[in-house]
Amino acid sequence: MGIEMNKTMKAVVKYDNVAGATEIRDVPIPEPGPSDVLVKVAFIGVCGTDPHMHRNLTSFKINVPLILGHEFAGTIVKAGSEVQGWKSGDRITSETHADYCGVCPLCRSNQYHLCRERKGFGFHIDGAFAGYVKVPSRILHKVPDNVSLREASLTEPLCVAYKSVVCNSLVRPGDTVAVIGPGPIGMLCIKMAQICGASEIIAIGTSGDENRLKQSLSYGATMALDSSKEDVAAKIKSLGDCYGADLVVDTAGASQALALSLDIVRPAGQITRIGWGPKPVGFTLDPMIAKSVTVQGHFSHTWDVWEKCLVLMSKGQADLKPLITHELPIDQWEYAFELIESRKAMKVVLTPIDE
Ligand SMILES: [Zn+2]
Ligand SMILES: [Zn+2]
Repeated sequence: MGIEMNKTMKAVVKYDNVAGATEIRDVPIPEPGPSDVLVKVAFIGVCGTDPHMHRNLTSFKINVPLILGHEFAGTIVKAGSEVQGWKSGDRITSETHADYCGVCPLCRSNQYHLCRERKGFGFHIDGAFAGYVKVPSRILHKVPDNVSLREASLTEPLCVAYKSVVCNSLVRPGDTVAVIGPGPIGMLCIKMAQICGASEIIAIGTSGDENRLKQSLSYGATMALDSSKEDVAAKIKSLGDCYGADLVVDTAGASQALALSLDIVRPAGQITRIGWGPKPVGFTLDPMIAKSVTVQGHFSHTWDVWEKCLVLMSKGQADLKPLITHELPIDQWEYAFELIESRKAMKVVLTPIDE
């Protein structure tokens, strides 16, 4: 039983703010503070931002050296002296907000995910591509008995979809929802739109997305469109009353995706943007005014959303298992990143390699 005997663990470490400066290292097992727990990691999801950080494509600087990985589930092996309600052996998943101040106006109004002091696992604080991770007990969530830790490691992306589609958009039965980008977040937004009762759910991808578009049809989409093969805007504006989609969810982020969103959204409709696109848009936003469109950005999630998502998983309303296409040990992190970037994988989960 590793923890008492081993003082080190294998971890995927980004060690410099230059492209490619990531490697497997032996690092000390973290020591939990009074309000933390130490979690033995079972599974970690690979997020689209992980390869970006590896290749230094992010607009922010990373606190190097840093263990990557922010989507995880595991078992508590040690609880700090002030921790209440959690004990060794508890199966948990965790929010990604490794730190936030707790006292600013945003923290006090359940918007702590937007606190200026917020620090994310795998971005500013050591993450979970490792044998163990230290987690403040305030962001822990219990994994229901009938949900596997493998599936629970994907709770975070489901929370992104829940917060953006359920909390920050309005979807009603009878609505048409278009989702741009059939990656994991897109698929989960499709699922949330289905749960909310949308009647037409359109997945939009491009060349290279053929398999993902196909999968979207068995995951809640009623229609899948490939923008490299057909005129997506004309198709969507020929449906129903021909005014366009009530809600467009953009998980892709590039400026063409915003242009398409403005084209296919109906007057007085909504555009919810989740995907990041660091480049300037380069076109007029006047259609936003002419159509009286609500455009809103979306980032992250909060405690209440995590609890709801775990209920959806436990009750089988959101089954995340079909999204996991690959499982690899963490020393194959580079191959995992390749699978994500080439869109060959939908979701890859990694497993620790410590005893
Ligand atoms: Zn992520
Ligand atoms: Zn705060």
